[in-house]
Amino acid sequence: MSTRDIPERYSRQVRFPGLGPDGQRRLLEGKVTLIGCGALGTVLANALVRAGVGFLRLVDRDFIETNNLQRQILFDEQDVASNLPKAEAAARKLRLINSGVTVEPVVTDVDRTNVLDLVRDADVILDGSDNFEVRYLVNDAAVKLGKPWVYGGCIGSHGQTMTILPGQTPCLRCVFEAAPAPGEAGTCETAGVLGPVVNVIASYQATETFKLLAGRLDRLNRDLVYVDVWENVNRRIKIANLLGKVDCPCCQRRRFEWLEGEHGSHTTSLCGRNAVQVAHRSATRLNFEELARHLEALAEVSYNRFLLKFVAEGFEFTVFPDGRAIIKGTSDVDRARTLYARYIGH
Ligand SMILES: [Zn+2]
Repeated sequence: MSTRDIPERYSRQVRFPGLGPDGQRRLLEGKVTLIGCGALGTVLANALVRAGVGFLRLVDRDFIETNNLQRQILFDEQDVASNLPKAEAAARKLRLINSGVTVEPVVTDVDRTNVLDLVRDADVILDGSDNFEVRYLVNDAAVKLGKPWVYGGCIGSHGQTMTILPGQTPCLRCVFEAAPAPGEAGTCETAGVLGPVVNVIASYQATETFKLLAGRLDRLNRDLVYVDVWENVNRRIKIANLLGKVDCPCCQRRRFEWLEGEHGSHTTSLCGRNAVQVAHRSATRLNFEELARHLEALAEVSYNRFLLKFVAEGFEFTVFPDGRAIIKGTSDVDRARTLYARYIGH
């Protein structure tokens, strides 16, 4: 592709000397897997697709709720009414924004059985998730495969981000050896979250992705960047010297504890949502028509190609074709398992 062949829509980016035509070409040939399509994820996807990143795989397990609209910039009221999974709704919107790139939505829960396949062909992995379990899993996969990934997290009015280049910078576990215990860190429900801080952190992450794809590793952020938009704090924490200095189980000893299932659970209480996700261990394919018929007498059921919803005993069930369900109204994992068994089966 010569400079002449680069579409005019990218002209302002091509004129930016840090990228230029070569950088733009590399973005157009770039492949990114984005894990999570919520607050950070929608801002990231928007930035990448507008910039012309050629292939974007969007992975998300969730559906859209009204309280997402305050910060999840790709969604609108119609998406809530349509009961669409986030990955699917985002992909539809992104294709309208830029028909020249490929967007692949994947509605699934990222776990140790699928994470390697989801990231194997990506040049860069992006964290748009809201929980540490997924981040440690992504960290394991990225270090194992030697792929760069960009961590980001936000809560309240603050957020942080770092870029991990396996072998060249410390990994997530070098910096945070263990996930905060449940209840130790705040959640978006208890502490809330401001839309603008999400945009700040995601913008750092998106720019890091441009640098990684364009081969401008000389410009990478090698610190832990911390921003609080309410308290007017901007901090850079030097972490580069941690590489090789801490006895990191992941990047030094190459023990991939999350990937190998030593950590992590299958049924998960969702970050501050008063909801539990119950996943199915064996791959299955639910027949919604049949399930709806069974449930008809007990509850009002609605479904489309992507999900089935019903309310029973005051709990709101959202069921996905792979057998996974999100049960709202409890954060008690055992209770959720019982409810799952009662209404959906084993
Ligand atoms: Zn490490």
